Amino acid sequence: MPPKKATPPRVRKIALIAHDHKKKDLVEWARFNRGTLAKHELFATGTTGRIVEEVLGVPVRQLQSGPIGGDQQIGAMIVDGQIDFLIFFWDPLEPQPHDPDVKALLRLAVVWNIPAACNRATADYMISSPLMSSDYERLVPDYGAYRSRPLPGIPADDAGRAEPAEDNPQPA
Ligand code: PGA
Repeated sequence: MPPKKATPPRVRKIALIAHDHKKKDLVEWARFNRGTLAKHELFATGTTGRIVEEVLGVPVRQLQSGPIGGDQQIGAMIVDGQIDFLIFFWDPLEPQPHDPDVKALLRLAVVWNIPAACNRATADYMISSPLMSSDYERLVPDYGAYRSRPLPGIPADDAGRAEPAEDNPQPA
């Protein structure tokens, strides 16, 4: 089956995350792009969100702090089709207590074909792309075949019962 297309509304749902040594970078980037960011809906891990909200003076929906589950919350939102765009300035020089969560979040962005910027240069290219204000249709991979794959020793009927009722729901 061909992948579905999700047309994000012109107001994108943007997730912002920065590790501690990258927060200054993210704040500078967000301040520079305040005009654009203010037109969209912003989400962030706890500390990043608090700082960005203070600096920009625009509402940011704050989830848990990253190391205590915020990265996983954003990952779950990606799976549920509630995030269109990820800006994640992770720190390549510091081990993090939640390294597995960081890896999981980056993986889910790839699994669901979410645009993700991990440094300022990429974030600059993404935010200034003409696609930001267009009706760009992101391809949403169809994992139906993966879900119904044959499992060794499990009759197809039993395996089928474990399937979720609905594919990754996407906003219209
Ligand atoms: P924080 O989390 O915004 O709460 O600092 C960021 C992270 O480490 O994932």
